[in-house]
Amino acid sequence: MPSLSTVNPFLVDGNWYSGSVHNHTTASDGKNTVAELAEWYQGHGIDFIVITDHNVVADVSEASNPDITVIPGAEIAVCWDAAFGAEILCLGIEKVKRQGIHPQDVINDVLDQGGLPFLSHPHLSGVYSGLIMGLEGLMGIEIYNLFGVNAGNRGKATVHMDDLMAVGKILWGLATDDRHAIDAMKPQAWIEVKAKSNDRESILMAVKKGLYYSTTGVKIHDISITDTYVRVRCSEAQHVTFSTLPWLSAKVDADNQGLMTEAVVELNAIGSSQTIESFNQQLIEKGMQSTPKEIRPHVRIEVDDGQGRFAWSNPLPLL
Ligand SMILES: [Zn+2]
Repeated sequence: MPSLSTVNPFLVDGNWYSGSVHNHTTASDGKNTVAELAEWYQGHGIDFIVITDHNVVADVSEASNPDITVIPGAEIAVCWDAAFGAEILCLGIEKVKRQGIHPQDVINDVLDQGGLPFLSHPHLSGVYSGLIMGLEGLMGIEIYNLFGVNAGNRGKATVHMDDLMAVGKILWGLATDDRHAIDAMKPQAWIEVKAKSNDRESILMAVKKGLYYSTTGVKIHDISITDTYVRVRCSEAQHVTFSTLPWLSAKVDADNQGLMTEAVVELNAIGSSQTIESFNQQLIEKGMQSTPKEIRPHVRIEVDDGQGRFAWSNPLPLL
């Protein structure tokens, strides 16, 4: 299991950069060139993009300018029991070494060249949580993939994320357009990264550490975690969910169908060490568990504006 240090992006120095990290060009089945995509995203206020063509790394060497950083990558097909068209989204690689093999081998190839491997659209690919649990070195999964949402509403995977958290496997989420063409719609799903500067190395380092949140338009302004509560400040929201462990997650609703810009939950309600101890005790008494489970609880925050737009934090450790 990867031991990544979980850090709160709201507590580290840096600037916020908006990034679209799943894009196809004419190098595979996309309709536009790298340059056209870069110009289009730049016009929509996106600071960096990753080009992730199918099984090939497109040449992005001439594409960056002071206003947009273009990072090479690929989306590599893998062959996996019981999964349909599973793919690994690879950020920051120079070449596709192998494809069509077991995802663990592709993940190892990507890690060898300093890239970041994520699992593309688990729901669309029919990849259930138990399969993901067996992978080592995976950085995370796409929790929102617009292509999948449009293809039979199979683009969301926050349940996978919660399943993984419940067994102590802490991975990052990604919201992406999985864009194949520029169109009248502006960018729909992206990540907001806290990094030192807008260059390939700083951005990938921040993503590797989980210093970002995913969004389809909702902003998270701050997350603070103390030994008694978790508080989120955000753009106008109708619901805020604090996911920790099965039966311990909590949802805060705005009053009277109004909107809120702050939500707070008591740590006791969602997974303090005492809560987990007593929960374990109940499971042992019911014969559902023989010994206390040793899990360091994390919280994953989802903000919903009631109009179909969301923001999702990465899992953050509770104190
Ligand atoms: Zn794709």
